[in-house]
Amino acid sequence: MFDYLIVGAGFSGSVLAERLATQLGKKILIVDTRNHIGGNAYDCYDDAGILVHKYGPHIFHTNSREVFEYLSKFTEWRQYEHRVLASVDGQLLPIPINLDTVNKLYGLNLNSFELTKFFESVAEPKEYIRTSEDVVVSKVGRELYEKFFRNYTRKQWGMDPSELDKSVIARVPTRTNRDDRYFTDSYQAMPLHGYTRMFEKILSHPNIKVMLNTDYREIQDVIPYREMVYTGPVDAFFDYRFGKLPYRSLEFKHETHNTPIYQPAPVVNYPNEHLYTRVTEFKYLTGQSHGKTSIVYELPRAEGDPYYPVPRPENAEIYKKYKALAEATPHVHFVGRLATYKYYNMDQVVAQALTMYSNLIARSTLEQHIENGHALTL
Ligand code: FAD
Ligand code: UDP
Repeated sequence: MFDYLIVGAGFSGSVLAERLATQLGKKILIVDTRNHIGGNAYDCYDDAGILVHKYGPHIFHTNSREVFEYLSKFTEWRQYEHRVLASVDGQLLPIPINLDTVNKLYGLNLNSFELTKFFESVAEPKEYIRTSEDVVVSKVGRELYEKFFRNYTRKQWGMDPSELDKSVIARVPTRTNRDDRYFTDSYQAMPLHGYTRMFEKILSHPNIKVMLNTDYREIQDVIPYREMVYTGPVDAFFDYRFGKLPYRSLEFKHETHNTPIYQPAPVVNYPNEHLYTRVTEFKYLTGQSHGKTSIVYELPRAEGDPYYPVPRPENAEIYKKYKALAEATPHVHFVGRLATYKYYNMDQVVAQALTMYSNLIARSTLEQHIENGHALTL
């Protein structure tokens, strides 16, 4: 008998498996439909021997010391600060928009103070910031919005920024200094030997059995377990009872080039040209030396594996119903980006899993208390 059947071997499922097995001695079966662990963070060596991220670029960054220290038990790190260029009007310019972006775009020589004034002069003030369009237009005006954000977003999400929650574009800040890092978190690093190696360590415990190429529905009636942790799409778990929750998908087109460097930055975004949104060159991320180089194009899709929950009010309403149902479903715990329908980064998913672990301990202590016949003092 397993104590837990964990559905999904990505960050959320793997972290819970590790905590429950190593800290509480629970017996875990973790299953994944895919033929590998790591979920969307999975990386592997391609035919040329270059470490690539199968499901697009995964850059680790967090402000949580707890999350960083927790993952540091399973990996050493390579210091890495991510930088992105956007292809706009025939130039490759820093994104997030900063002082250099505006100066290069318009052939100006503004300082930070003057740039602040410039932004103020073009910004369209909004009384209430509701949509992703509002976020940008209220800060840097319509022209920069059109050049850097509008079309990228239309491609990526299949809808206009005015139809998307403000939280989507608010992920990308605007700066008046020359800082060209994509993230400013206090911890920014890549697992030294890759994500998959880190997951192998997370899951390496005698109490954890990993079963790949398996949908949990194939085995849930034949393998006995006490509790389930579910990290797949929440609407699928409930057979789409309240309708399908939209998830945006991507097609990844991987290529290897017979040259040591392909592009001048780890990621180049293409807001206005092409059907793809961005191109990633992996050697920048991993630090690997190799005579060839591998890249990936991301082509947004409406159908396919669910990668992105789509933050907008009507979807939040549908999710609310699934959430209520999830909370009322005994012995099943929902965690992760797909199961809680949240546009979470890796560190946020790890934090969510660690919090769930604390809640599970609290509950198990309480149950033990009641089983032992102790009265509860509140
Ligand atoms: P997942 O990794 O999706 O794992 C869920 C697993 O459940 C999957 O492996 C799936 O196969 C399995 N599963 C589903 N249904 C079943 C079933 N019925 N039976 C068995 N198994 C099932 N985050 C960052 O912090 N930095 C980044 O740079 C970054 N870049 C990203 C780029 C892209 C293109 C994408 C799509 C995401 C990116 N993320 C990034 C987000 C990151 O991928 C997620 O936060 C993280 O992987 C979520 O982990 P999870 O365990 O919740 O879900
Ligand atoms: N975005 C954009 N132009 C860019 C970069 C981002 O319009 O050059 C918008 C787009 O809507 C994107 C969102 O900002 O989906 C969040 O960007 P991020 O790089 O965080 O996306 P992710 O890495 O999660 O795909």
